[in-house]
Amino acid sequence: MILTDTHLHLHFPQYDADREDVIRRAFAGGVGRLINIGTGLEDSRKAVAVAERYPEVYAAVGYHPHESKNATAGDLAGLEALVAHPRVVAIGEVGLDYFHDHSPRNVQMELFHTFLGWCRKHQKPLILHCREAYGDMLRILRETLPVPCRGVLHCFSSDAATMEKFLEMGFHIAFGGAITYKNNDALREACRACPADRLVLETDAPYLAPQSKRGRRNEPLYMIETAEFIAKLRGDTVDRIAAATTENAKKLFGL
Ligand SMILES: [Zn+2]
Ligand SMILES: [Zn+2]
Repeated sequence: MILTDTHLHLHFPQYDADREDVIRRAFAGGVGRLINIGTGLEDSRKAVAVAERYPEVYAAVGYHPHESKNATAGDLAGLEALVAHPRVVAIGEVGLDYFHDHSPRNVQMELFHTFLGWCRKHQKPLILHCREAYGDMLRILRETLPVPCRGVLHCFSSDAATMEKFLEMGFHIAFGGAITYKNNDALREACRACPADRLVLETDAPYLAPQSKRGRRNEPLYMIETAEFIAKLRGDTVDRIAAATTENAKKLFGL
């Protein structure tokens, strides 16, 4: 069994004391491929530096919508130069976050347009972050990108009807530890309805540890709990879920 964690942040300071151990534990436990996600220019450089050290760790470079207001022209030029790096498999995370509203919405949307332009220009898939902004995100994607789109909606947190609209555009859907939390029935219903060829898994580590470790630092090995949960939810085996989601990730990101 090889699971693929399509979204985590290994370069974050939460792992400074034991990063090597965390990565080795994941590989030894069957989480054999990791996509390490950047959230700004300096942060994306750090994400790529980790990917350069391990053949099974890849990177994505982007700007988190929280930080949109701080992105200078120089930052964007530096980030765009990184997109072509051989270890970089996607543009992300990028998107819209109206839950926290750390940056003004018009600034978030303007930056999002820039990244969609990069997606077309550089032909790399998107890793989308979206919280309570699904309407604006769908509208902008429809106005900007030809269908079928290549990309994944990371940490999906809405319902089956919303998921369907992204599936129609060609996107994959990533489910993480939040699916194991109580009071997430709408999310579980979406996961049951997601076609097997569009499903991918993620941890978003160090955040969103699954139920048995909720509130603690997450790490890629813990994705096994989420994979087992999803297998049960879909009436499938964990081996088949692992095989399908890894195959989907390999195809989508060219791993
Ligand atoms: Zn995110
Ligand atoms: Zn993230």
